[in-house]
Amino acid sequence: MKQRLEQLLTSAKQAISQAETESSLQGVRVAILGRKGELTALMKGMGSLSQEERPVIGSMVNRIKTEFEELFESRRVVLHEASLSARLSHESIDVTLPGRRSLQGSKHPITLVMEDISAIFAALGFGIAEGPEIERDFYNFEALNMPKDHPARDMQDTFYINEDLVLRTHTSPVQIRTMLKHEPPVRVIAPGTVYRCDSDITHSPMFHQVEGFLVDKHVTFGDLKGILTEFITRYFGADIGVRFRPSFFPFTEPSAEVDMQCVICGGSGCRVCKNSGWLEILGSGMIDPEVFKSVGYDSEKYSGFAFGMGVERIAMLKYGVNDLRLFFENDLRFLKQFN
Ligand SMILES: [Zn+2]
Repeated sequence: MKQRLEQLLTSAKQAISQAETESSLQGVRVAILGRKGELTALMKGMGSLSQEERPVIGSMVNRIKTEFEELFESRRVVLHEASLSARLSHESIDVTLPGRRSLQGSKHPITLVMEDISAIFAALGFGIAEGPEIERDFYNFEALNMPKDHPARDMQDTFYINEDLVLRTHTSPVQIRTMLKHEPPVRVIAPGTVYRCDSDITHSPMFHQVEGFLVDKHVTFGDLKGILTEFITRYFGADIGVRFRPSFFPFTEPSAEVDMQCVICGGSGCRVCKNSGWLEILGSGMIDPEVFKSVGYDSEKYSGFAFGMGVERIAMLKYGVNDLRLFFENDLRFLKQFN
């Protein structure tokens, strides 16, 4: 028994000094002191010893156990420090490395287009007005010559909040709010977000418009044509063709849709312009006397024109974007191109 204990201590010393990692050292400990360890097994055999042998062997076992624990602990400290310093040298920080740059954002193409349009009209003497996106029925429809049951209301798939409140379907209510607040002359554009219950590849339930209007004495359809032609040629290029087509809107009379020469094919005909060579970009007209009546303007004394355009459509034509949804998907690969 004595001999086996001495042998065990010798082989344990060797195993401890040979352990290269903390986990293999732990393995040595389990092999000796664990429930099925060698020393544990020897201690179980002590019951068969004689009265005289038992205390001698007992104290020897305790001495070996203590010695083993001490050796184990000092080796553990050595291995732990070695692994720590290895890790530290591996994880050292190179302060000369360049830092990580934070991603620089850029303006959304829709914002860019609204700013460019606003800048052109500002240069032509127009101020900028804003209004709420949740709008009273009166401002969105009634005052714009669209009383309840007017068929033109069906042209706009409206989000109703209740009987009297809607998500504005166009930026035209800003026209009403501005005219109610200011006497002529007024010359204002209103860029903003509008909503319609419509969603497919060419329609989004939320999109953007720029509304504009001018009211003064002696304003004619010629002024309308002059201002809008000036805008289109300043934005798309001086040599671009512009034409006016008769149309209908409830709040203007007469009304005209404005086309410009196709910017994709230059007028020779392509898929985008459906081979016509022309692209519709604006709705416009002389403000209907009924609208003046609802804001208290004297239509004998004043006249004016109004126009509206879809910002997404203009952005698509300006930047050659062929899918409306790209503007709303927040794909950085797309948005980064507008830096
Ligand atoms: Zn074309």
